[in-house]
Amino acid sequence: MSLGPSRWLSWAELACKDGTPYPHEWRDSRAVALAQAFDTLRAKVGLPLVVLSAFRTPEHNRAVDGARQSQHVQGRALDLLPPKGWTVAQLAAVAADIPSIRGLGLYGSFLHIDVRPTARRATWRGARAAADAVTPIR
Ligand SMILES: [Zn+2]
Repeated sequence: MSLGPSRWLSWAELACKDGTPYPHEWRDSRAVALAQAFDTLRAKVGLPLVVLSAFRTPEHNRAVDGARQSQHVQGRALDLLPPKGWTVAQLAAVAADIPSIRGLGLYGSFLHIDVRPTARRATWRGARAAADAVTPIR
């Protein structure tokens, strides 16, 4: 079994923080597209990127107060910490040059990227805390 769908993204990083593995039926389609976008960003940055949040089950998404139509639940999104010494805006500027990244959300401490199947890129600024950076209250 491979460690992940690409050189730099592992199945462990893609799993939900509640312990649920990344869904098997999306591994060849969604995970590969997401991992290719991640690897392109990782290569351009030239430094490791910490994945805060990737796939979320609907239950976990509710527990962390995620958006209802979250791309994380669809297995198409990653929340990433900028490398040490980088701002979220600097990481976003690099990500913006990658055409396969169709959703780009800038938050205070992390960057959301996703590979939603839409022609137009969605870009937004958000204020919420990183969903999986803190232990959710249950
Ligand atoms: Zn996100």
